[in-house]
Amino acid sequence: MRKPFIAGNWKMNTDINSAVELAKALAEKSVDALIDNKITVAVCPPSVYLSSVAAALSSSSVGLGAQNVYFEAKGAFTGEVSVSMLKDVGCTYTLIGHSERRHIFGETNEMVNKKVHAAISGGLLPVLCVGELLEEREASKTEEVIKTQIVKGLEGIDAAKMQAITIAYEPVWAIGTGLTASPQQAQEVHAFIRSLLVDLYDTNLAEEIRIQYGGSAKASNAAELLSKKDVDGLLVGGASLKADDFMGIIEAAL
Ligand code: PEP
Repeated sequence: MRKPFIAGNWKMNTDINSAVELAKALAEKSVDALIDNKITVAVCPPSVYLSSVAAALSSSSVGLGAQNVYFEAKGAFTGEVSVSMLKDVGCTYTLIGHSERRHIFGETNEMVNKKVHAAISGGLLPVLCVGELLEEREASKTEEVIKTQIVKGLEGIDAAKMQAITIAYEPVWAIGTGLTASPQQAQEVHAFIRSLLVDLYDTNLAEEIRIQYGGSAKASNAAELLSKKDVDGLLVGGASLKADDFMGIIEAAL
């Protein structure tokens, strides 16, 4: 039985006050009572606010995640943040390979793979994001693109390490656009990803791995998306920026 995993990606939004207020609102709005060990919830604020958000969440069960991480341990990598730095400020999770990292900042599958290795070795739980562009879907290349991202992203990750990973399927055409994949479209790709995991590992492990959907998820469509067999949670951008909206999504996962 896979425990639903709802994560909020705040992207480059909020300021110090609104980030702390949002975190406090989640901690105070009895999210804990809702979570009650039934679901996993995490937020991924901008890296400069991680410490402040960690403090605001300190007595709550809402986990903390980073939006990105670098694969080297330390050194001359101006502007980058290492796994141990993220651990220092209280992170449990890190997104890796978000489509904005891939398409705006040029992250390749090879870089994504190095980040997955570094995160797991350093004790961070990766949320590996994959997803196709609109033109790729229209050219019937969705499965080919997803397969490449999964196979290359997980290269060298053995079954024991795989236990640490969550996969997020985020069709790029649905991110921040208001266009949500239909529950059926999401289920089809999630089932395909799980079949890839069966091939790469085995059925038992594939059945344990959580696969989140991301792309304009909100309180009004969350329950329907989550009702699908292979949709094990949601990675939420815009709708994670208001406590009430995010709470609505959490409630839909219960
Ligand atoms: C995301 O950034 O991961 C995302 C899914 O964004 P949105 O919910 O705003 O589409």
